[in-house]
Amino acid sequence: MPPFGKFWTVLLKPVSPLAAPADSFDKTRYERMQLMTIEVIADTIAEFNVAPVRNSKGRYDTIYGQVTGSSTAAMIISYLTSSPKCVGVYFSMMEDGGLDSMYFDPKSASACNSALSKYDGGIALVALDNPMWIGRVQIPLGVSMMHELGHAKQYLEKPAWYEALVDIVKNNNVSPQIAESLKETQKYTKPAQDAKMAIELDNITRHEGPICTEMGKPVRTSYP
Ligand SMILES: [Zn+2]
Repeated sequence: MPPFGKFWTVLLKPVSPLAAPADSFDKTRYERMQLMTIEVIADTIAEFNVAPVRNSKGRYDTIYGQVTGSSTAAMIISYLTSSPKCVGVYFSMMEDGGLDSMYFDPKSASACNSALSKYDGGIALVALDNPMWIGRVQIPLGVSMMHELGHAKQYLEKPAWYEALVDIVKNNNVSPQIAESLKETQKYTKPAQDAKMAIELDNITRHEGPICTEMGKPVRTSYP
């Protein structure tokens, strides 16, 4: 039984065929530019309270270069580049590492600033100064970026599922259908935590975990 039961099965769409060979980043980038499906954001989004780093586009190439050995990372990029939706990537750097990497789904992004509605696949914010640690191992930032892009893939695959869970996180608004799907993963005390964990565990199980394994890094067994 998949982790989210019937609801999962209904909403999970099959993954599109790969748009570009996994071993050809230049071709992926070319197709990305044509389709405009992943766009590195170089302008400040004031609502994020942090400026994008200089040379954000160069950063994308460098950071993606850290995970080119992972077939799961290539699969996520191929999925996103074959989608008609546009996903934004925003690299931030603060001196105190005070910001976590995060994903804004399209509704949350356009609620932040209506000009962000063009990112109809959401925005992955990658905090360059706040890399992930698993135990004593520092994980390359490429994995953090792929974690956030993994959320974009989750959203594009099953937007109703994702939005219902985000609604619980924000408003504690649990529909009977989604409550049923949370039963199987329920071990936290509050619906908002259950919903956040349902999103994170799905992303870690299908995206971040396999990438870490393919790179010879440890895998998270819990989420903070
Ligand atoms: Zn996450």
